[in-house]
Amino acid sequence: MKSFSPPTIRLMGPGPSKVSERVLAAMARPTIGHLDPEFIRLMDEIGSLLRTAMRTENDLTFPVSAPGSAGMETCLVNLLEPGDTAVVCINGVFGGRMKEVVERAGATAVVVNDEWGAPVTPDKVEAALQENPQSKLVAFVHAETSTGALSDAQQICRIAKNHGVLVVVDAVTSLAGVPLEVDRWGIDAVYSGSQKCLSCPPGLSPVSLNKAALACVEARKTPVQSWFLDLSLVAAYWQGDGARAYHHTAPVNAMYALHESLIALHEEGLEASWARHERESGVLQEGLSNLGFEFLVDKKYRLPQLLSIRIPEFVDDEAQIRRHFRNAFSLEIGAGLGPLAGKVWRIGLMGAGANRDNIDACLSALASIFET
Ligand SMILES: *Cc1c(COP(=O)(O)O)cnc(C)c1O
Repeated sequence: MKSFSPPTIRLMGPGPSKVSERVLAAMARPTIGHLDPEFIRLMDEIGSLLRTAMRTENDLTFPVSAPGSAGMETCLVNLLEPGDTAVVCINGVFGGRMKEVVERAGATAVVVNDEWGAPVTPDKVEAALQENPQSKLVAFVHAETSTGALSDAQQICRIAKNHGVLVVVDAVTSLAGVPLEVDRWGIDAVYSGSQKCLSCPPGLSPVSLNKAALACVEARKTPVQSWFLDLSLVAAYWQGDGARAYHHTAPVNAMYALHESLIALHEEGLEASWARHERESGVLQEGLSNLGFEFLVDKKYRLPQLLSIRIPEFVDDEAQIRRHFRNAFSLEIGAGLGPLAGKVWRIGLMGAGANRDNIDACLSALASIFET
């Protein structure tokens, strides 16, 4: 046995995305105690950098010590109790996961279905809330990574507010890649992930909850069934003034990485990061169109940082092509999921990976499939 030495792969799938040298270097710094005053200072800085990135002033803004799926569970299992009703919008894989989490929390999911590749239809959310006035919240995915469709979060939030229900938003892929205005849009609970447009290694899930969401958590009649994700316990670890209560041991070095990636985002500027994703994606989309590829998602709802392209008819073993890309070009792109398996490839242009070099490499790999 020897030490593991990973190959150098150009990550252009649905995540993880490229991690820059400075973030990797930050992660390799010496581990310190998770209750050390310097680590607590780091936690505070991460909180404030996350508030800037999410455009929120929510006090309770911190990274859950687990991947994006844990952020999803944190929001839903804390806000829902057995017997509650939640409107869940499904237009891809991750909306479907939200429904599962809602149901495992003992709540009833009222599903708003849209086609895979289409955004969530706000009118359907309106209708679902009219028909189910007992609903406690609306949950939807802002940027559906399984298809590359962007939903109108602002409009859905407005509808939810009119009905006086909370809004839970999956911003795993949207954060730092497209505009996300947590406070301005009135999002009550939001979660994201470290390995998409934040360009960090996987394993952390930034979450943020506003006062209305926390009031709902405080008003619970039953304890949250998950001890680890129970916000009333974990919040004391992230927020205690000076005296932090031990809850779990934070992944110290992963926090160094997240901090560094948030500093990098701060230096670039959030709006500049949105603009870079838009601009670089435009270049990639033009190149893909020139090669003859068609997009799954209408231009109007197309996510800059994740493009689903239709696999050409003549390809009969798409997995073999992805293996070839991996072996001959050191390039990773994503497969289609669920009903889109074998029909689309998913190309990620996320965070530090949204650059011209990646675009050129991806286009030359894709061009090679037309040469026989
Ligand atoms: C990646 C992703 C998740 C899950 O994140 P993990 O870190 O894989 O647990 C959830 N929602 C969306 C939209 C995602 O893209």
